[in-house]
Amino acid sequence: MAKVPYVCSECHLVLEDGVDVCPRNPDARVSLEHQGYVIIMNPSRSEIAKRLKIDQPGKYALKVSVR
Ligand SMILES: [Zn+2]
Repeated sequence: MAKVPYVCSECHLVLEDGVDVCPRNPDARVSLEHQGYVIIMNPSRSEIAKRLKIDQPGKYALKVSVR
C-alpha cells in the first residue's frame, strides 16, 4: 500500500514521510488530496515555479485541494 504524502496548501511542497507540518509554513494547512508532482531544481529558470510562486528547489504538487 503506497503512502500518500502530505502537501502544504500554501507552497505546494510535498512533505516527507510522516511529516504533516510544512517547515516553511508551519501555520498552513496540509492536504492528502493533490495531483501531479514536479521537481523544481532551479526555480528562477522554471515557468512552473513562477506560476506556483515557488522560490526554493524541491518536490511540489501541481494541484492541492483543501476541504
Ligand atoms: Zn508550505
